Order: sequence, then C-alpha cells, then structure tokens
Amino acid sequence: MHRSGLKLNTYALGSVLKACCTNFMDSNQHGKALHTFSVKLGLDLDDVVATALLDMYAKTGDLVDAIQLFKLMSNQSVIIYNAMIAGFLQGSVEDGVKCFALTPKLDIVSWTSILSGYVQNRHFGCALALFYELLSSGRKPDEFIISSMLGACSNLASPRSGQQIQGYAIKTEMDNPDVVSWSVMITSNAHHGCARKALRLFELMKGYGIAPNRITFLGVLTACSHGGLVKEGLRYFESMKKDKSMTVNVRHCACIVDLLGRAGKLVDAENFILNSGFEEDPVMWRALLSACRVYKDTVTGKRVAERVIDLDPQGSASYVLLYNIYNDAGINLPATKIRELMNDRGVKKEPGLSWIEVGNKVHCFVVGDCSHPMSQVIYARLEQMMKRMEKLGYIEGRPISSISEPKLNASTVMNYHSEKLAVTYGILCLPASAPVRVMKNLRVCQDCHTMMKFLSRVEKREIILRDSIRFHHFREGTCSCGDYW
Ligand SMILES: [Zn+2]
Ligand SMILES: [Zn+2]
Repeated sequence: MHRSGLKLNTYALGSVLKACCTNFMDSNQHGKALHTFSVKLGLDLDDVVATALLDMYAKTGDLVDAIQLFKLMSNQSVIIYNAMIAGFLQGSVEDGVKCFALTPKLDIVSWTSILSGYVQNRHFGCALALFYELLSSGRKPDEFIISSMLGACSNLASPRSGQQIQGYAIKTEMDNPDVVSWSVMITSNAHHGCARKALRLFELMKGYGIAPNRITFLGVLTACSHGGLVKEGLRYFESMKKDKSMTVNVRHCACIVDLLGRAGKLVDAENFILNSGFEEDPVMWRALLSACRVYKDTVTGKRVAERVIDLDPQGSASYVLLYNIYNDAGINLPATKIRELMNDRGVKKEPGLSWIEVGNKVHCFVVGDCSHPMSQVIYARLEQMMKRMEKLGYIEGRPISSISEPKLNASTVMNYHSEKLAVTYGILCLPASAPVRVMKNLRVCQDCHTMMKFLSRVEKREIILRDSIRFHHFREGTCSCGDYW
C-alpha cells in the first residue's frame, strides 16, 4: 500500500503497528521502520500512532525507545499513560509505579493495569494497599479488579482483607457478581476453614438467582469436608447429581472421600470409591490414604497405598504417605524398603520449599538451608525456641526422618524443614503483633505441624501456613484444620 504511492493515514499505521506487537521474528525491526515512516509523514506524534508506537515498543520489550518517544509527546493523554504503565510493568514494577504516579488523570484502566502488575509480580501487600487507596479515592473498581484482588488475598493468606473485599463485592459496588466471583468467594472461605460462611454464601448466591456450576460445587464440597459437615456435604452432592446440567467429576468425588475419611468413616469411604465410577483414579485412593494415616488404620492404609502405587507408580506422595503410616505404627523395616522401591523406580521427590514475604522481598528456604544471610541468627533463635517448647511438652520428631525431605546430616542441627526456618525468620523480622505468613509447596509434615502449634503458644504469635492442601492458622496452641490435613 505504501509502495503503491497511497498516503498512509493514522489508522492504517496504527493497525500495522498493532500487528508488530505480536512477537513474530523481527517485529521490533518492522516497528522501528514504521516509526521512521511516521516521522517522515509527520504522524509520529499523532495520538493514535504514538500510542500504537509506545505499545509496540513496550510489548516488544524496548523500553528505552518507549521512554524517548513518551518524552517527546505533547499530549500525554490517559490512554498513552496506560500504554506506558502496561509497558513498564513488563520490565519492572517500580518503573510502572513511577509512571502511574506521574499520570495526571487516572482512569480505571490505569488502576487495573497497576494492580494486576502488582499481583502478577507477587507484590500482594502493595496490591492490597493500592486497592484501599482506590476505594478511598471514591472510584468504583470493576469486576476485573475485584477478582484479581480476591486472588491476591488468597495468596496473602490474609483472611480478614479477603473477607472485606468479598463483603465489598457483594454489598456495594459489584452490582452483579457472576458465578465466577461467587465461586472464588466460596472456595476461598472453604480453604480458610470457614465452612459455615462458605455455605451461607452459596445459599445467598442461589437466592440471587445465580445457578452454581461445577467449580461452585467443588468449593461447597471442600467447605463441608474441611468443616467436618458430613450430612450437609452428602446432601449437596446428591443435589448436584440430580441436576441434569451438571457432570460430577473425579474432584467432586474425591471431596466426598475426604469428607467421609475425615469423619473416620473409612469403610463408607472405600465403598464410595468402589461405586463412584472413578475407582481406577489414584486421586480417589490418595484421599482415603490420608484418612488411614490420621485414624492410624495400618491395615487399610497398607492396602490403599499399594493400590495408589499400582495406579500411579511415579507419584511420590503416596510412597511418602505409606512410609509415614509405617513410621507412625513404629514399623521400621518396610520404611527402608519403600525408600529402596522409590530409588529403584526412579521416583523423583519434589524438594520442599517454603517462602515468606518480608518488606517487599520474598525469602525462600529449603530443608537445612544455610544460604540466607541471617542463617546463624535464624538457627540460634530456632534452637532457643525449641528449648522453651520442649519444656511445655513438645518432643521433636527428629527420629522419624521424612522421606520427602531427607536429613542432610543427621549429626548436626542443620536439618530443620523449610517451614520452620521461614517461620523463625518471620518471627525475627516482623513486628511482634504481625501474624507470620508462610507458604509451602508440599504438605506440611506431622512434626512441623505439632511444632507450629507449640510455637504459636510460646511466642504468642499467629502463624498462618499455606501448604499444598490448605491453610493452617495456628493460634494459642491449636490449628484451624483440627489436625486433619
Ligand atoms: Zn516438616
Ligand atoms: Zn493444621
């Protein structure tokens, strides 16, 4: 078109530049060539073209040129600022925030991009602070902002803020929360162990005439199982089965196994699996395996574990559970055998990892970690707290070495699980009144769980540990999970 001598107009340039944003080979080169053309045509500072150029530079990662162009523009409209914010966020959050602060007239798009920039970069605390700023500025957040904030809160392990935002979403601004927002709220309550609240939300949602979907039901069943509400859970499950538009999947059924297992109804749980149509799925048996361990049913546990291992020979979790069942029963020989079996089959163990956010930084720990600059202080404090807990009756579970996080060196103290180190670091660095929030990629082990309960008592601290299964709120010597996880 250009070669044929026709004049390029602003909109044609804009669309070609848009095409340059999709990262095909040399897209940035093509974009730059177009930039040169637009300078020749005197169109480079036109709003439409300039915005498209900025967007192109930002999306192809060329922030230096983006800044140069931005400085030249006379009409720095809010649309252009938003393109800049979005662009900067791909480089660094700090630059995005600077640009956000410079924007003279913020619209909802600017807020949305900066908030989602924070959330994507895991600066959840900043996201939350900015969200409150948005509210106090009198602006109305849209549904996109609310759902990304709910996501941020579940990552913050911050139930209070989460509840405030939920309340806000329901009561005031969100005129029409859709089934997705409702499901997020229900599931988040379920994971925090607020079963009754999750069910109230579910009834409220139906009252508004919104039809639940599979995910809503999963949240409801999770709430019932974490809350020990057997009768309610089974009733909801039946109503779901009756609903012709709904297909029950393996995750719903695993929730029921969990529900029955938690309540100690191991026989019912096993019968349920056999009649569920998912008896070949290891997920179902794994749910029962946890129950066998909690209720110390070694006989069923052994049978179930072998079934899981048959169905999923590469899943390390079931070997670990079987190993722990033997260990708890004081049987040592098979434990070594299981470890050998895992080695023979080349089963990979996912390394345990815990992390904590302090200030604006995430601190990450592995088992026996000595790489943190404050390692010495952390270990000294941990040892000191151990002594105080032992006086209260805590017996460290060291003789039981865990298969998932093997001891590095049995003769030293350097074999603490990662969550113990992360929590100790939090106790050292956070203000005394602040709860310590730690995330962990694996299920928390029995010993760490017991230790956290003691720790919450001796340190008078609220400890919130999010493991791969759920949230544990440790307060005054007890845990919100009721020791079932
Ligand atoms: Zn542990
Ligand atoms: Zn717990």
